Amino acid sequence: MSHQSFQVVAMPFIITAECVGCGACQVTCPVDAIVEQGERFAITDECIECGACLGVCAVGAIEEQEEKSRDASSL
Ligand code: SF4
Ligand code: SF4
Repeated sequence: MSHQSFQVVAMPFIITAECVGCGACQVTCPVDAIVEQGERFAITDECIECGACLGVCAVGAIEEQEEKSRDASSL
């Protein structure tokens, strides 16, 4: 069971498949932008790009994204 339809919006921070679902980043986020999504976590567009979550992930699953996926947006 793999859902791979999550890369929808161009967001500066992403949680990759490395995520082990520990939830540490979720409690760190000041704006509750990190939500549980199946067995992993994901960053929503509530993200204010503060970068706080980057340092707390023990497995390095949170990455800053370059602004190169803008063409994926249909808005
Ligand atoms: S960068 Fe900041 S606002 Fe965005 S998901 Fe991480 S902790 Fe939350
Ligand atoms: S801290 Fe890392 S491993 Fe833990 S839920 Fe967040 S992204 Fe996943």
